[in-house]
Amino acid sequence: MAESDFKNKEKLLFRSGYIAIIGRPNVGKSTLLNRILGEKVAIVSPKPQTTRNRITGIRTTDSSQIIFLDTPGIHQGHSLMNRRLLDTALQTLDEVDGVLWLFDARDKIEQEEERIAEMLGGVETPVLIVLNKIDLVSKGKLLPLIERCAQLLPGKEIVPVSALQGEGVDLVLRIVEGWLLEGPRYFTEGEYTDQSERFLASEIVREKVFLLTREEIPYGVAVTIDEFTEKTEKNVLVIIATIHTDRDSHKGILIGRRGSMLKEFGKQARQDLEALFGCRIFLELFVRVDPGWTQNPRLLTEMGVG
Ligand code: GDP
Ligand code: MG
Repeated sequence: MAESDFKNKEKLLFRSGYIAIIGRPNVGKSTLLNRILGEKVAIVSPKPQTTRNRITGIRTTDSSQIIFLDTPGIHQGHSLMNRRLLDTALQTLDEVDGVLWLFDARDKIEQEEERIAEMLGGVETPVLIVLNKIDLVSKGKLLPLIERCAQLLPGKEIVPVSALQGEGVDLVLRIVEGWLLEGPRYFTEGEYTDQSERFLASEIVREKVFLLTREEIPYGVAVTIDEFTEKTEKNVLVIIATIHTDRDSHKGILIGRRGSMLKEFGKQARQDLEALFGCRIFLELFVRVDPGWTQNPRLLTEMGVG
């Protein structure tokens, strides 16, 4: 093949992939993401404590698409709830196309990092260690840290950067692009945001049902968002959601005595939603018995299952 044929072939190949960004709070994950995304930000907002991985940004070019995920659970304690988060996190690490692990170059490596390194050592996924905030440390302090990271995860690449000033960020991006395989453009411009916010809202309500009810109830429950309207002038987001249950006998439990259970779902979900969307939330919940919901294509599509 002539060289120009190679070039043409390369051009036709679209590459895409999911990349998890992990690291302690304040190491600079959002700052790095903003740098990488530049104007191409799809969504970057405060993170909720959901069990799902959140898309925090999408970078699309003519030839590639990178979908960045936030992976809750990795840097959290050990409560029962966090066990669930951790399982999700572990599963994610296995399924993504690469992991960016951020450190603040001023921080010490502790037990927590060793635990995470152990998890990462057990997956095939490529990992890049990013030492951030190098503008704040001297070379003399940086070198021991680089050595320590090399011991922590032998064989993995380490890139020192300053997300704030931009130094090293191009290299990070080049390495990540090297991980991408041929794949589809998962998201088109604008497609992502609204969908995902509705989905997140339904997940938060579902999570409250999961946490506040017991046994078989959560598994027969689905949540749909019937209205999701931003009232900009009042800085309030109106969300109306329905909790669908496949059993008549569960309806009473979900509503509770004089509506107390439903009220509690609403109260807790609203708090999370306000933290997530950064505005006041008007949340109204309904319960509906919907015996065939697991067979209902519209519902399943809406929930992202179909
Ligand atoms: P996250 O919690 O990991 O998302 O961290 P953020 O991106 O919110 O950053 C936490 C703080 O560190 C913010 O005040 C940032 O401005 C600051 N920061 C992030 N990256 C750098 C960097 O490279 N150099 C310096 N000096 N500050 C940084
Ligand atoms: Mg952040």
